[in-house]
Amino acid sequence: MAGGKHAHYVPCIRCGQKAERIQEGTENDTYECTVCGHEFIIHWEEPPEEPQWPVKETTDENKRSESTDHEHQSHNEHCNPKHE
Ligand SMILES: [Zn+2]
Repeated sequence: MAGGKHAHYVPCIRCGQKAERIQEGTENDTYECTVCGHEFIIHWEEPPEEPQWPVKETTDENKRSESTDHEHQSHNEHCNPKHE
């Protein structure tokens, strides 16, 4: 028994939607996404104490420090080279 009863559903590692456990092993559980169909394995060090789905909302404070908004370059304004 790997993930236990709280690990029956987890967020898909590809699309973040609901993935269902299709096989339960001793240490690794296999999941298949119900949305994109992606199949992946999760290794559970120990079974989670809380349900893994639905995902709890994460605070925006973590995202804010990583936001890099300086990547915007005015590339579109120069996409009209004159051929004369
Ligand atoms: Zn998915």
